[in-house]
Amino acid sequence: MFATILRDVDGHGGLAPMRCLDGRVLIALDGSEHFCSRKISCPHCSTRKRADGDVEHFHTFLGATLVASGHKTVVPLPPEFVRPQDGAAKQGCETAAAKRWLARLGPAYAWLKPVYPGDDLYARQPMALQATGGSFLLVCKPSSHKTLAEYLTGVEMDSLSETKGRGPDKRVYRYRWMSGVPLRDGDDALTVNWLEVEISKPGAAKPTGSMCGRPFRCKSEIRSDGR
Ligand SMILES: [Zn+2]
Repeated sequence: MFATILRDVDGHGGLAPMRCLDGRVLIALDGSEHFCSRKISCPHCSTRKRADGDVEHFHTFLGATLVASGHKTVVPLPPEFVRPQDGAAKQGCETAAAKRWLARLGPAYAWLKPVYPGDDLYARQPMALQATGGSFLLVCKPSSHKTLAEYLTGVEMDSLSETKGRGPDKRVYRYRWMSGVPLRDGDDALTVNWLEVEISKPGAAKPTGSMCGRPFRCKSEIRSDGR
C-alpha cells in the first residue's frame, strides 16, 4: 500500500521537492519505542530489567522515513518491528531490524534512487552491503572505525572552504573528502567515500562544531565544488 501511494504521489510530481543529489531521495532509518509497560505485556514484547528490579515490557520499531533538507514534511514508509529474539541491546536490535528492512523493502524502493542517512551504528560492512539498490550517507566515528581513521591520518585530502552567514553568525565551513577509503580492516573491506565538515568562527583556532565523517558509496555524490 505504501509503495502504491508513493508511486501515485511521485506520478503527480509530489516527490519533486524532496529530490536531491542528482534526483535521489533520502530515506532515514532510526529506531523508536512505541509501547512500554510494567503491567501489560504480550508474547512479542522485548523486556529489560530496571534499576529497581522490576521488568519493563516494550516494543520498538525501525522507522523508515523519506526526508529532505529544509522540508518539514516527511513521508513515512513501512516500519520494521524489532523482535524479542533481536536481543535487548539497543544497537544490536536496531541494526538487526535495519538489515531486515533493507532485505525486505530495499529492492521495492530502489526506483526512488535512495540514499540512506544514518547513525554511526549503521556504518558497518554487513549493513552497507545490505543497502542494495541505494547509496548511504552515514556518520562514521573514528573511535568505532579505527582502520579508517588510521588510513586518513596524515593524508592529503581534497578540500574546500567557504564562509557563510553575517556578523556574529559568520562561520567558516571546511570540507575535506577522499574516495576509496576502506571501511574496515581486511582484504574484503568495502571501500567508501569519506567526507568531513568542520565549522568554525572566522579566525578561531578550533572548530566550534563539526560533523563526523561519513562514508558513502556513490562517487557522483561528491561534486566538483565539494557540496
Ligand atoms: Zn508486547
